Amino acid sequence: LERNKSSLESLKKRIGQFTFSEFKILGNLLVNLAFEISTLRERLEREAIEDPLTGLYNRNFLRKFAGSLVSLAKRERIPFTVAVIDIDDFKKINDTYGHAKGDEVLRTLGKIIRNRLRTSDAPVRMGGEEILLMFFNANKKEASSVVEEIKERLSEVDFGFGKRVTFSAGVAGFPEDFGQSVTLEELVELADERLYKAKRSGKNRVVWM
Ligand code: GH3
Ligand code: MG
Ligand code: MG
Repeated sequence: LERNKSSLESLKKRIGQFTFSEFKILGNLLVNLAFEISTLRERLEREAIEDPLTGLYNRNFLRKFAGSLVSLAKRERIPFTVAVIDIDDFKKINDTYGHAKGDEVLRTLGKIIRNRLRTSDAPVRMGGEEILLMFFNANKKEASSVVEEIKERLSEVDFGFGKRVTFSAGVAGFPEDFGQSVTLEELVELADERLYKAKRSGKNRVVWM
């Protein structure tokens, strides 16, 4: 602390000796520095809630913001629907064509989702090949048809291995499935149950009842 104090004192003395143009340079440096710090801060804030592979949100986003989204939906009585997506036979894709190919599939699915969703919807990569979609102001039927469309678009992509990539999904919604006291966890749990129903009944489908 003492050393900082004395170096501050000597800096003050030297600033008195600066010429006007040196002062201007110093001012510019400080402005640039402040700008860089603020962009860096914005980037850090974004990266903290973003999954780098898919460009979707990560679990941090869910922890930070999802609760308040659900509260808002309940308070304003806006339909709120969640869909849990899980790629079919993804392990086989990895094992047969390599991890890089698997990553390419995930990246492509992320892009399709980002292009298709509205800004009020929130897609979250929960880990692995599991993605949670949250639809604000959409009922189960509307959300399911968006999920079907995403599935359709993914299956149209030629990844170069002959077979088409599909996924299964489970959908649950407020207020269709739950009353006012519903939590996000309950919605996701029911969507998960329906996802497994979709897997058991042959995969490549969206189950919402
Ligand atoms: P199902 O149709 O029942 O969903 O079968 P599945 O093979 O898709 O399911 P499983 O959960 O057994 O496989 C998930 C695989 O996802 C296992 C893991 O190696 C792979 N995986 C998880 N994260 C990544 C990733 O970031 N990149 C790649 N390439 N693979 C991943
Ligand atoms: Mg899985
Ligand atoms: Mg899977």
